[in-house]
Amino acid sequence: MNNFELKNPTKIIFGKDTIEKLENEIPKDAKVLLLYGGGSIKKNGIYDQVKIALAKVDVIEFGGIPANPEYAILMEALKIIKDENITYLLAVGGGSVIDGTKFLSAAALFEGDNPWDILTQNIRSEKGMPFATVLTLPATGSEMNSGAVITRAETKEKLAMGGPGLFPVFSILDPQVITSIPERQLANGITDAFTHVLEQYMTYPIGALLQDRFAESILQTLIEVAPKVLKDPSDYKAASDFMWSCTMALNGLIQKGVPGDWAVHMMGHELTALFGIDHARTLAVIAPSHYKFNFEAKKEKLAQYGERVWNIAEGNTDDKAYAAIKKTEAFFQKLGIDTKLSDYTKDYEGTAEEIGKRFTDRGWLGLGEHQSLSPDKVEKIVKMAY
Ligand code: NAP
Ligand code: FE
Repeated sequence: MNNFELKNPTKIIFGKDTIEKLENEIPKDAKVLLLYGGGSIKKNGIYDQVKIALAKVDVIEFGGIPANPEYAILMEALKIIKDENITYLLAVGGGSVIDGTKFLSAAALFEGDNPWDILTQNIRSEKGMPFATVLTLPATGSEMNSGAVITRAETKEKLAMGGPGLFPVFSILDPQVITSIPERQLANGITDAFTHVLEQYMTYPIGALLQDRFAESILQTLIEVAPKVLKDPSDYKAASDFMWSCTMALNGLIQKGVPGDWAVHMMGHELTALFGIDHARTLAVIAPSHYKFNFEAKKEKLAQYGERVWNIAEGNTDDKAYAAIKKTEAFFQKLGIDTKLSDYTKDYEGTAEEIGKRFTDRGWLGLGEHQSLSPDKVEKIVKMAY
């Protein structure tokens, strides 16, 4: 196992009717900016629950953060934070609203002239304005980690940021919010969380028994609850298991002591930036090709995953590893998620070269757990995903 440090300061408040606990958690003297997305919270009753819980607090609102949180819109919120002397941020939404709020938390205290530098210059946020979340969509794990991904339409970019100052102070996870989530977003959430685990697990050499088994248990739980959640999102038991699995998939625990890959996400982000494809769907497009391309290096781990998660017993290591990739692809497809780029756009020619060029221009010359995935290899993987 590799050396590691682990500190996750986010308080999780999990369970039925927990949104009302906001009242006790937000400091009474705070001036709060309540941030939300396109308005789903106004239709499903979450907004009303939040407003009742915040009745005694000074609150200003900022709605309209889109899926793939857009920099230009966040800059409008930043102006309000400054003009109104906001002291505390509250994200009520999915990964997009939470990530947008993390950017604002960092930008509010940023001392440079141009907050976009936080993303392009990899500036780690050691401190941020305090913020909390009410999670409305299990998927990203953003409610219990310190990372964010921000989109800029003007330049067709989607870039990651983070730092120890960007953990939520607390996050409220009430599985009842799942009842109103459309099927497409439920499928996205399952796929995103599943791929988060793969990014931290499908690495080599095999080195940490407990981390492997943590990861496998999250994958197995997602496989088990996926059909139940899709069939009936108001099934509280399935919703609880789904929600907690997504949080555990990316709260820092399973990544400790093992190398992380994350190349699938880095390539996937480009597909969202270029074509606007939902984040999770880009992962389902890239992951099968990524594992096929890196088959020799990753096959021991792929075979272990096949045996333990998919109960593949037949064949040698190569057979099991290959069958495991097939099972993964079929799992995404069964959720209603297409796994080829050409399923999403007719304009896919040239995408691989464009992504290879972008990575070269940014100096991203070696992705993956051993920094061995050069832009020319990235191009081959993206082409395999057409
Ligand atoms: P999302 O973009 O936050 O939300 C997707 C859609 O679901 C929105 O249209 C939203 O509607 C709707 N929605 C949310 N909750 C709902 C509910 N309870 N009922 C009905 N509709 C609901 O989706 P996401 O998958 O959570 O976040 C994706 C973003 O997170 C991407 O930008 C991705 O890159 C990023 N991400 C971050 C991390 C991280 O660790 N920080 C990891 C992976 C991905 P409204 O807008 O109307 O609310
Ligand atoms: Fe993700």
